[in-house]
Parts: sequence; structure tokens; C-alpha cells
Amino acid sequence: MKTVIKNVIVVTMNHKREIYNPGYLLFENDIIKAVGPMEELDKHDLLGASLVDGKQGILMPGMVNLHTHMGMIPFRGLGDDCKDRLRVFLIPMENKAMDEEMVYLSTRYAAGEMLLSGVTSVLDMYYYEEEAAKAMDEMGIRGIAGQTIMEEGACDFSDPYEAISYGERLIKKYQSHPRISGCIAPHGTSTCSSEVLKAAYEIDSSYQVPFTLHTAEMDYEMKYFEQEYSMTPAAYLDRIGVLGEDTLAAHCIHMTKEDLDLFKRKGARVAHCIGSNTKAAKGVAPVTEMIERDIPVGLGTDGPASGNTLDILTQMKLFADFHKNETKDRSVFPAETIVSLATIEGAKAMGLHLITGSLEPGKQADLVLIETLSANMFPVYDPYSALVYSANPSNVESVFVAGECLVKDKKLVKSNLEEIRKDLVEKMKQTDFRTHMTQDQ
Ligand SMILES: [Zn+2]
Repeated sequence: MKTVIKNVIVVTMNHKREIYNPGYLLFENDIIKAVGPMEELDKHDLLGASLVDGKQGILMPGMVNLHTHMGMIPFRGLGDDCKDRLRVFLIPMENKAMDEEMVYLSTRYAAGEMLLSGVTSVLDMYYYEEEAAKAMDEMGIRGIAGQTIMEEGACDFSDPYEAISYGERLIKKYQSHPRISGCIAPHGTSTCSSEVLKAAYEIDSSYQVPFTLHTAEMDYEMKYFEQEYSMTPAAYLDRIGVLGEDTLAAHCIHMTKEDLDLFKRKGARVAHCIGSNTKAAKGVAPVTEMIERDIPVGLGTDGPASGNTLDILTQMKLFADFHKNETKDRSVFPAETIVSLATIEGAKAMGLHLITGSLEPGKQADLVLIETLSANMFPVYDPYSALVYSANPSNVESVFVAGECLVKDKKLVKSNLEEIRKDLVEKMKQTDFRTHMTQDQ
């Protein structure tokens, strides 16, 4: 079936960064067929096509969330201002109350929340990821389900090697799926042994899926590598042979110039989580230096317990605010660059840039229509500026993934967020979620 979205400002994010204002986009089934200025729409045979009037909204590529933990919706807002949130809240509750059903229900909710905010591709890392993959598939989002491995065991597996085997089975199961894939996502550089990291890397790279893990994020992590190895986490990953083109390192806050050169040489990529990093007072990652070196960088929200929101529009605004303030220069990172991190550059870092991340013929129809009729969206002089500095998730009008309309008139089309929330609330009651935290909060 053919669909035309017309009368929109098309922000293509193609190589030339073309914008058509006013413009149109034509897609058939899941594939974009044409995109251009309105005056060229007539040259297409539109017999039987469904027509969508975009009412001068901004049509952009679906946004990419490169790093999150979708199973953690029940943790959102717990211990936000607690110094040791990880040990007081997250680990005890995860170990006692997290199970397959909770991951499934939470991932459904998170996928719905992300779709409503214009995220069409997501790289998740958590536990029981087969449930996460199933939930993402049902919700229609594009996603990679990363099975997290902890050396000392986690809520799903006490033995890290069993978790690795589960992860490999997950990768195989989704190998030919059009939207979902799996990967093995070790928790972090210091929470897994070198043997576990190497085993996971070998499997991920043999299937050409991302090897993703938390890297150069925590103070204790930096101290540990300094004391044990007299080196940085990035140098350690390289020394044990797990830094390569399939490596997608999340956070990368504490990076030396040598670390960045190493990432460039090895082709490693970065998921930058500005909201989560700054909320936790961990610092601002050296993204200017990453981009100068042409290291692929995209944006991630981190989990709902870390950054609270799962939308990339908020990350774009935070990115501008923090990086401009940090460099004392309002001209660094123009809005166009920030939109590219949220779309095509994010897709590159996720390994999906040949199929998504820009509006070009031949690519998947992963599209977001941002309305410009709300009070906060007037006037629009520069669509990049409007997206970074004015827009928020409430402006997301319609969302398509692989040509399927998943959000229309700001509501989910094939699922109902209220019902998903009701199921999640019931489950949280059953497991008495909050009582599992430690007492010394
Ligand atoms: Zn994380």
C-alpha cells in the first residue's frame, strides 16, 4: 500500500542534509519510495494511495535511543536524590522482585512511551531479554535486545556463562526478523571478568551485532582500573581484545585523549547519555573531541531510573544546554548536528544506518511527524532549531515504523498505554516492589 505525507517540512538528514519546505514523502509498504518538494508530487502515480496532510508539521527520521534499560520502568523516581541509589534501591530490588513477567510488562510500557515521543529504534540492555524482544516485537518498535551479563550473577542467571548461552540463543532466534535482533551486553568493564567479556565479544562480533557495555562511567570503575592495571577502562578493553567496530560503549565520560585516539583507530562507537550523566553528577563526556575524530556517537536516555525520561527530544535539549555551557560557547554543536546525533549518527552507532536514520528512497519508512500548531512551536524559522530548542514529546503527532502507523493523533494505534500501565501496576503490587529496597536509604 502507498502512503503520501504531504504539506510538511521534510528534514531528510541525508548526506546533503536536504530540507523540503513544503515537501512530501511517499512510501510503499515498509519502504520510502520518494521524497521531495511539493511541486514534484504530481509526477507520481498516486492512484489508491492514502494521503496524510501534515499541516506544516516537521517530518523527520525516527529517533534512535542508543542506550536504555526498558525493564526498569517500576524503578523510575525511586532514590533520585540518593547518593548510593545503585546499592540501596536498584540491586536489592532487581534481585528480589524482577522476573520475566515484570520485564515483559515494563518493556511494553517503555516501548509505548518511546513511540509516543518519536523514538523508532532502541538498543535495550537488561535481563530476561527474550521477554523484552517479544514485547518490542508486539509493540512494533525497531529494537536490539541486549542480554546483560553480570559476573556475580543477576536476577535471571547466577552463572554468567548460562546468561551468555541464553544471549546467543536470543541472537539466533531473531536473526532473520525484520525489526528485532539480539545481542550480548555485558554490564560493564569492571563488573565482568576479562574471560566473560571476551566470550561475549566473540559471539557478538561473529553475528555482527553490537557488543555494548557501560564504559568509563563510574568513579569506582576508574579507580579500580588505575589501581589494578594502571590503565583506563578503554585501554583495558583494547588490551583484552574486545575493542573493535562492533563495540558500542555507553557513557564514556572519563576518556583521555589516548582513549579517544584508540576508539578512532579501532572503529568503536559511543552512546552518549547526557541526561543520566549530569543528573548523577558524573560529568560531561568529551563529545567535541569524539566528533572531531569522527567517532560514531549517538544519544541514549539510559534507563528510566537513571534519566527518568526515555525520549530523545529531551536529550537533544539537554545536550545543547550542557555542552554549550561546558564550552562557554553558544555556537558549538549547532542544532543540525544535534539532530544528526539523534537520527542518522545514532543509527550508524547502532549499525542500522543502511536501513534507517534518514529519509531517503530505499530506506525503511521510520518516520516522525512533529506538529507545529501547539503554542510552543510557533514560529518555525529553522526546523533543526525548532526540534532541538522548542519541541517536546507532546508535539509528536504521528509515528511510523517500517511503514506501520504506530502513533496517530498523539495516541498509540495498536495498543493502549492505559491498559499496559494497568497490567504493570497489578504486577508491581503482586511483587510488593518497594519493600525490597534496603532499609538504610
Ligand atoms: Zn545504563
